[in-house]
Parts: sequence; structure tokens; C-alpha cells
Amino acid sequence: MSPDGVAGCIEAPSPVAPARGQREVFCGLTGIVWLHRKMQDAFFLVVGSRTCAHLIQSAAGVMIFAEPRFATAIMDERDLAGLADAHDELDRVVAALLARRPQIRLLFLVGSCPSEVIKLDLSRAAQRLSRTHAPDVRVLAYSGSGIETTFTQGEDACLAAMVPGLAREDAQDALLVVGALPDIVEAQFARLFEALDIGPVRFLPPRASRELPGVGPGTRMLLAQPFLAETARLLQARGAMRIAAPFPFGAQGTSAWLRAAAASFGVADARVDAVIGPAHARAVAALARHREALSGKRIFFFPDSQLEIPLARFVARELGMIPVEIGTPYVHRAHMEPELALLPPDARVVEAGDVEAQLDRVRAARPDLTVCGLGLANPLEAEGLATKWSIELLFSPVHGYEQAADLAGLFARALARRAMLRV
Ligand code: SF4
Repeated sequence: MSPDGVAGCIEAPSPVAPARGQREVFCGLTGIVWLHRKMQDAFFLVVGSRTCAHLIQSAAGVMIFAEPRFATAIMDERDLAGLADAHDELDRVVAALLARRPQIRLLFLVGSCPSEVIKLDLSRAAQRLSRTHAPDVRVLAYSGSGIETTFTQGEDACLAAMVPGLAREDAQDALLVVGALPDIVEAQFARLFEALDIGPVRFLPPRASRELPGVGPGTRMLLAQPFLAETARLLQARGAMRIAAPFPFGAQGTSAWLRAAAASFGVADARVDAVIGPAHARAVAALARHREALSGKRIFFFPDSQLEIPLARFVARELGMIPVEIGTPYVHRAHMEPELALLPPDARVVEAGDVEAQLDRVRAARPDLTVCGLGLANPLEAEGLATKWSIELLFSPVHGYEQAADLAGLFARALARRAMLRV
């Protein structure tokens, strides 16, 4: 084993048990909450119902001091009954929005359950509106509906919608980091790649639409999030080559992720050690106090965000926790292979899920901590189980060395809170 604790690991991949049944997961609209903060000149227009508007407003928290970069074009009974021309109404809403917010350069029309039920063709609307508002504004469409997507799949659908419009990149050895990262984390990674002499490095999504990266046969992509199956597929179809790696959660995950990129670019081991060594050591030291509190604690993941496998790997290897069950909505075998190989050999991974059966198992197991969606957290807390909302893991900066202790802190705080409630 290397000093990072990952390279050279020889565990066999854990088996994945599929399950089918009722699920309790947010829809893909939720992704707007972190995506709209990332792209400064983008705007997300949900074409949906009042329920959709309430969902994203309550998920985002109502921002009273800043105008959020999302809104809902609410479909009323006349639209749903087919009595109004929804395309005409959409054109009017978009024209009014762009007149009021001239800084918008990239507009996403986001489909919902109601727009899908009446088969409103938002891709066609996006093409028409792009022509109308060119060259200032580009309009794209994707679905965030609960019929088609679970909550992190909204980001996948959004990024996938951008891929066909990316320019062709002819540079050899360009690195494309894929997955929305907070600016602070993006800047940390950019500095590390520069120190490793890897580049040019681009990020998808970028901070502004004019910085959209190119893609081509010389592009190597490194996934920063584990839920980007469709985006990765489309980028590979454009010639990009995926660098297989664990995801950059925790000190070990971040080192393994950077080492995989460095190996792909032929960076010498000695240089990699010199660049990442100090940051890795700092992260390990920062994790120590959380390890003390969390080591030996049993943790149960409900299927929710698709972050579950990398997080289980992190808490098991770096914090000494014991994953009782790792539920996840979907396992992309190729993307997850490096992660599965790092799980404890006896870890139980359950793909998709049957929420009733999982509730029976969590009640029987009585883990110290349960990671689940908001809808399950309160009832489980009422039954005396400590819970962590999985959605917080998307809203908080958790990637990379500097955030490793913060990520551990999210789990530790949930346990500390439960302990205080017991006193
Ligand atoms: S898209 Fe569907 S699941 Fe999501 S808030 Fe709207 S109606 Fe509900």
C-alpha cells in the first residue's frame, strides 16, 4: 500500500445486490439548487406546476437579498387541458424574462412531470428560442422530472444537454474535469493540476457559459461526481477518454483521483508525491479528531444521491466506520469499479431499493447513523435513529483535501446532535 493508503489495494470488488420497489427520492429539479450557483450567466426556467416551484424554493431556501437564477413557468389548467398553446405562452415568458434579465447568456428549459405528461416538446422549444434570441442567448432543454430522474440525475441531464454544443477541442492532452464543483474547490484542484504540470485543464460546468470547454479525441476526462453516466457517455462519443479513478472524497480518494490523472499524463511518481504529499498529510491530520468520534460506529445508507458508494468507502477506510448497508439508486459498473474495489470485502451494496424492505432492515440493524433523504429522516429520528440528510452532501463543499475534515464533520455532527438530545 502506498502512503496515500489506496494505490496497491487488492480487495475484491463487493457484490452488488439489485432490489426493486418503491423509492423515496427527490426529483432532478433539485440539482438546480447547486447548478444555478455555479454558472453565473445561466438561468433555469422550470416548466412545471406550483409543486415544482415549491420544491426548488424550499430546497434552495428563499433568497431575499439576491435574485435567484431560477424560476418556474407555471402551467395552469388551461395548459394542462390543452386549451392554450403552451409553446406560444413559453415564448412570451422567455421573452419577458430575457428583457428583464439581460445578463442571461444560457437559458435552460427544465422539464417536469406536468410538462412530460402533456408531452410538451421542450427540445423543439429550445431550438426555436435559440434561433429567436441568438446570438446573445443560447437555450437548452433537459428533463428534471420525477418520472425520469432522481435528484442528482438532474445535474447529469443538465451537463449532458450541454455536450452537443461544445466546440471541438483539438489540443492533445487536455484535461476535462466533469461535475459541478464549488468555485473554491475548483480553484484548489486547478492549482494542484498546475503544480503537476497537467493541462490545459477545463471544468464542466464552467463558471460562465463563455468558458464552455471544448472536447475532442485529445481530451481526457476525470469525473468529479459519481452520477454522470449520460454526460460521460456523450463526451466519450465525442472522443474523450475517461480516466478511471475513485472519486475525490477524503484524503485517500483525492490522492487516488489525482494520481490516476497524473499517471494518465505520465507525471513521475516523485513529482506527484512532492505535490500532493503535504496536502494529503494535512487532510489526514484534520481527519484524526473525527476518526476518534466515528471509529467503530455503524452506518446505513439509503439509496438517494449516488454518492453512497464513494462515501461508504471514505467513512470505512478513513474514519473506521462500519457500513451496514450501502443503498444506492444506480451502480454504473465501469465508473464504480475503482470504488467497489476499495470497500470492505463484506460490505453489502444494494442497487435501487425497496424502501419498505430497507426500513425493516434499518430498524433491525439499529445503526449509529443513517444517511437518507429528507422524507425518511424525520420518521427515523422519531424512532430514535440518528440521521444525516444526504442532500447536505450535495450542497456543501465536500471534495478534495481541504474539505475532507468538513465532510467527516457532517457525519460527526449528526451523531453529536443525537448524543446531546439523549442527555
Ligand atoms: S418535477 Fe414532478 S416530482 Fe419534481 S416537483 Fe415537479 S411534479 Fe414533483
